[in-house]
Amino acid sequence: MHYTALPFERAKEILTAPNRKPAVSAHYLVPEAAGDNDRFTIYELVPESRLAHHAGRSWWLGERLLNGTSIGIEIVNLGFPATDNRLPLENRQWYEYPAAQVAVVAELIADIAARHQIAPNRIVGHADIAPGRKTDPGPKFPWEALATQHNLGAWPDADTVKWYENRAPYADDVGALQAKLLAYGYDTPQTGQIDQATKNVIESFQMHFCAGHRYDGVPDAQTVAILDALLEKYLGWPRPSAPGTGAA
Ligand SMILES: [Zn+2]
Repeated sequence: MHYTALPFERAKEILTAPNRKPAVSAHYLVPEAAGDNDRFTIYELVPESRLAHHAGRSWWLGERLLNGTSIGIEIVNLGFPATDNRLPLENRQWYEYPAAQVAVVAELIADIAARHQIAPNRIVGHADIAPGRKTDPGPKFPWEALATQHNLGAWPDADTVKWYENRAPYADDVGALQAKLLAYGYDTPQTGQIDQATKNVIESFQMHFCAGHRYDGVPDAQTVAILDALLEKYLGWPRPSAPGTGAA
């Protein structure tokens, strides 16, 4: 999932320009609103059977360079004002995704995921597969609504999050956190320290799963509990049997 960071006409021009260097393309382009006839047109720019240049340098669940093994959806959304470019992520004025656009995106994802049997935890954002390099589709992307209202993509169960949060608060065990982020899918160094690459991964994770809470790259009990709940739900990690032992 991507935002275009450009208005529709300009995005379409760039995504369909022949011989552009570097090549940039996507399988689908979803405009911001319906056209004059009130019909919402989804642009199919590259057939799903062909590679599109939408992911670039990327990594998810042990696979790298995902252009050849993924389907890219570009959604028209400006991201944030260009003047916010140097601000921390949390201080940028991110643009909302209109409800009508989200409904169309949901239909498109549902169709693609059903035809290709794509698991929920493999429906991800550009920021998830290229942390630090990409921020799209940004913290306003409605991941929670897609999961809870349309049954699309990954989202943790609130009760499970609470259970993990109550069980053993995050005690700055960076090594364990890095191992969990790597296991969930993120390209995470295993250094035992919050280095820049790890902070980038946490920012991407938080933009996806904790955007209402924080996305400053600082791990806390809620962030880690959400990650624990996701690992249990989608990767089959067993729930620890003895609550409160602190042995995470
Ligand atoms: Zn992108």
